[in-house]
Amino acid sequence: MDITRLLDPAVSPVPFGSEMMDPFGRSITYLRVSVTDRCDFRCVYCMAEDMTFLPKRDLLSLEELDRLASCFVEKGVKRLRLTGGEPLVRKNIMHLIRSLSRHLESGALEELTLTTNGSQLARFAPELADCGVRRLNVSLDTLDPDKFRQITRWGELDKVMAGIRAAQAAGIGIKLNAVALKGFNDGEIPSMIEWAHGEGIDLTLIETMPMGEIDEDRTDQYLPLTQVRADLAERWTLRDIPYKTGGPARYVEVAETGGRLGFITPMSHNFCESCNRVRITCTGTLFMCLGQEDAADLRAPLRASEGNELLSNAIDEAIGRKPKGHDFVIDRATRKPSVSRHMSVTGG
Ligand code: SAM
Ligand code: SF4
Repeated sequence: MDITRLLDPAVSPVPFGSEMMDPFGRSITYLRVSVTDRCDFRCVYCMAEDMTFLPKRDLLSLEELDRLASCFVEKGVKRLRLTGGEPLVRKNIMHLIRSLSRHLESGALEELTLTTNGSQLARFAPELADCGVRRLNVSLDTLDPDKFRQITRWGELDKVMAGIRAAQAAGIGIKLNAVALKGFNDGEIPSMIEWAHGEGIDLTLIETMPMGEIDEDRTDQYLPLTQVRADLAERWTLRDIPYKTGGPARYVEVAETGGRLGFITPMSHNFCESCNRVRITCTGTLFMCLGQEDAADLRAPLRASEGNELLSNAIDEAIGRKPKGHDFVIDRATRKPSVSRHMSVTGG
């Protein structure tokens, strides 16, 4: 691509530094940055056991990730979530988090947060709190140590629990995310809710999405949350509440536990009309929609000059192509994933 064409006002009609608005009038205020595609687990629904990761030379440096994320903050992003892969396994990740926390101090950013598997949290929790991280999403699909090892292929539940405790002790609020998997944790969902709510932790259930080749058959894993909700409603009183965390979850309050339960339903209910977010990968590729293949390379404009004008124009051009929504299908006939990249490329 000839990058200099991005300086042509006919190509980039949006004034330099403008806030981001997509063609459907949605203001883009939420950025997720996948800081690495690597992970210390291999959750069976997320990755194949013998995943090939990107060569290290293809990754943006931490300084480049900082510049990229900061450009989005200048353009109106208020919430920044670091994800992966496992964000806390990226070498020197705390340098990036410490540096990005300057936007919290200046007031430009309202929230800096992470999605993590919790394995490294015991080590990092105090420093994360010190950097202004107030909330973390921890992914946890079971409370049974043997099943935990099975789903992550080798993870240790004790370490994650120690991480959750360390984060709470540091004053960080925890939200748990659990992927609902047929035949794996469906029977355990009520006890996970009781445990989380007993700890004062919100739990969000996620439908498994057809992203990337894995070793298993996704049609066997998919459990519609409409069904889970109907089953839970036979046991408990679920009341819809307008609670929002900036993400796509819809919440209910469980009267009997007094806690909040979220549902993220990319498959059975499309939540795109209120989508305010975009995602960048650790190589500087911008995905305007989690469920579509269209992407824009930001690494070339980032590296082409020291100023941010080319980069800002490349972002505006890409936001101008943000699609109305996704259309995930788990196709029984082809058994191919809807989206070829793995979730670990763009993060959750
Ligand atoms: N490693 C971190 C973690 O597990 O929290 C961050 C990255 S992980 C890709 C982010 C979230 O995506 C996790 O909650 C994980 O359970 C979820 N996830 C991964 N693959 C998925 C899939 N195919 N469908 C639905 N959720 C998925
Ligand atoms: Fe790693 Fe998170 Fe994917 Fe599990 S879900 S393999 S912890 S990136």
